[in-house]
Amino acid sequence: MVAIKPLPNLRTRLLASLLGFLTLTGLLLLPAFPSQAAVIVLDPGHGGNDSGADRGNKFAEKQFTLALAQKIAALLEARHRVELTRTADVQMAPADRAAVANHLGADLMISLHAAVAPYCSDRTAAVYYHIDERLKIPFGSSSKGMPTELDADQPAWNQLQIQHQHQSQHLATTLKQSLGDSDTFDSISVSGIPLVPLMGADLPAVLVEVGCLHPAASTDPQTLKQQLDWFAASLANAIETALPGLVP
Ligand SMILES: [Zn+2]
Repeated sequence: MVAIKPLPNLRTRLLASLLGFLTLTGLLLLPAFPSQAAVIVLDPGHGGNDSGADRGNKFAEKQFTLALAQKIAALLEARHRVELTRTADVQMAPADRAAVANHLGADLMISLHAAVAPYCSDRTAAVYYHIDERLKIPFGSSSKGMPTELDADQPAWNQLQIQHQHQSQHLATTLKQSLGDSDTFDSISVSGIPLVPLMGADLPAVLVEVGCLHPAASTDPQTLKQQLDWFAASLANAIETALPGLVP
């Protein structure tokens, strides 16, 4: 009597075929992010006792920047690793913000801020990069979180960003072009100015200002949500456009 090996049932055969296909195509070996994924750090400006431009008590700049960062992250995190310097209403020292990006070895950092009426409109945006390595911390500013003792062989923390000035300027220009291609903005400026939140960033970094807060004015929540969605979509698209020039 010859022992006949029973045929596997249909479900087992289908599962085996699927596993074989996935293994052959390498799909089972995929990491959490594609190999070309970038590490992007978004820095919602202000926080805690530092409200930034105040929009009454309802929606200050610190809330605007956090909501915007979360919306941009939601649009990018399927393809990239996106980290926020803060995810709650907490105060952060400038050096701590840059340190998050440095620690992650991020590919780029974008600090998010809003402008204040009457010097803006909802269709203006400004992109800034850091230029002045001789910047003095203004008298009375908090130095909490800033390193005080430095290795003699290492550049001072506040001179880290200046080494990336060329790349940051290029990033700013690329973002401007892409934001200009969207229907969200009529006017976008690019400027180099001393930027405390970025001076310790050891990577390409810019500060982007979008939106136009009207102190003490109440804005319809639906209008505000729609504006944030537009800004987030334009910025996420601009970041994607700028990445190939930054990721090795
Ligand atoms: Zn601000």
